[in-house]
Amino acid sequence: MNLPLTQEQIMIREMVHEFSQSEIEPVAQEYNLKGEFPAAIVKKLGKLGLYGMMVPEHYGGSGAGAVSYILALQEIAFSCASVAVTLSVTNLTTEPILAFGTEEQKERFLIPMASGEYIGAFALTEPDAGSDPSGLKTSAVKRGDRYILNGTKQFITNGAYAGLFILIARTSPDKNGLTAFIIPAGTKGLIIGREEKKMGLNASNTVGIVLDECEVPESLVLGRPGMGLRIALNALDSGRIGIASQAVGMLNACLHEALSYAGQRRQFGRPIIKHQSIQNMIADVGVDYEAAGLLTWSAASLKDAKRPFSREAAIAKLFATEALNRGAYAALQVFGGYGYIKEYKIERLYRDARVTTIYEGTSEIQRMVIARELEKA
Ligand SMILES: Cc1cc2nc3c(=O)[nH]c(=O)nc-3n(C[C@H](O)[C@H](O)[C@H](O)COP(=O)(O)OP(=O)(O)OC[C@H]3O[C@@H](n4cnc5c(N)ncnc54)[C@H](O)[C@@H]3O)c2cc1C
Repeated sequence: MNLPLTQEQIMIREMVHEFSQSEIEPVAQEYNLKGEFPAAIVKKLGKLGLYGMMVPEHYGGSGAGAVSYILALQEIAFSCASVAVTLSVTNLTTEPILAFGTEEQKERFLIPMASGEYIGAFALTEPDAGSDPSGLKTSAVKRGDRYILNGTKQFITNGAYAGLFILIARTSPDKNGLTAFIIPAGTKGLIIGREEKKMGLNASNTVGIVLDECEVPESLVLGRPGMGLRIALNALDSGRIGIASQAVGMLNACLHEALSYAGQRRQFGRPIIKHQSIQNMIADVGVDYEAAGLLTWSAASLKDAKRPFSREAAIAKLFATEALNRGAYAALQVFGGYGYIKEYKIERLYRDARVTTIYEGTSEIQRMVIARELEKA
């Protein structure tokens, strides 16, 4: 894809491309088939500085910015969508600390995360509150200088491996009654539940969490009490650029797989890429890849320019993830029966694609956000 990138952005993309091709691509299939969390790779991403790309140098990051970050994420997602979501969710925890944290919180948590010491988890969803966070029931009751948290969180990516959680809980019954907390792993009363068995993203970790009289000091409130919804929505705006990038990287992988298979596979005396129906499918995936990439780059560029990007992030997430699902369907079709066999990467891409239109806001919720933003304009 031809984007107007700086020399630094090109260098970062090449560096992550090389890393992903040499360290992730050869082992991704095996980790996914076994359903194993690739802890060693996740550690290496940290050493490479990928968790600190949005963190300024002052807190141990590189401050490389949103465009560099999406390029890196796309390269990782090309090889393994599970590793990409691990990175994307970690970023979902560093950015709110950067935006809303106290100096003490930034020093304490951003420095180790940016240096790759641990990854993060973002705990918003509950059994009865998914698309609508106003239904959150996890309670946080103030007792002296501490909060006591009780409740259940559902579908928490990285949960069993995270060093810290950004967790949203209810501190009062009213609309503005949500508060964000930073909870270090190992805090008493934060209980990691069983791992979900998923259709795809089998090398990523997804767990439930129980909070049972979990005590969190007041000093670990992120922002102020009552700011939880704002902090979560703000984080999700950035998170959507991350998921859009994951989809762009996967779409590129679909295109790559379809092109190389269609060039080799012969039917009716010629490579199937010479049949017009196959060409049409491949052309459509190529167009979707370009369009999704441009929308994602545009949202990230606005973010780097410190301009509003909520609408563009939602548009990029909606388009890229829907395009990925179309693209994975078409690319698998190009493989014929072989696409249905686990040995082929396209089979994994097809399953991994499915969740991208669901998490960090379903396509229906993106449309709500986009319509609301269009109405305001
Ligand atoms: C693999 C995986 C990883 C995840 N990781 C995390 C994580 O790290 N942290 C976290 O907090 N959550 C995480 N989630 C949760 C995810 O964000 C939610 O599943 C998602 O927001 C949808 O919520 P829900 O599943 O409760 O569906 P629901 O909200 O119950 O929605 C069900 C259906 O109704 C539709 N719908 C709902 N409201 C409306 C409306 N107003 N208008 C039109 N349609 C509507 C939805 O679009 C959907 O089609 C993860 C989920 C999965 C599957």
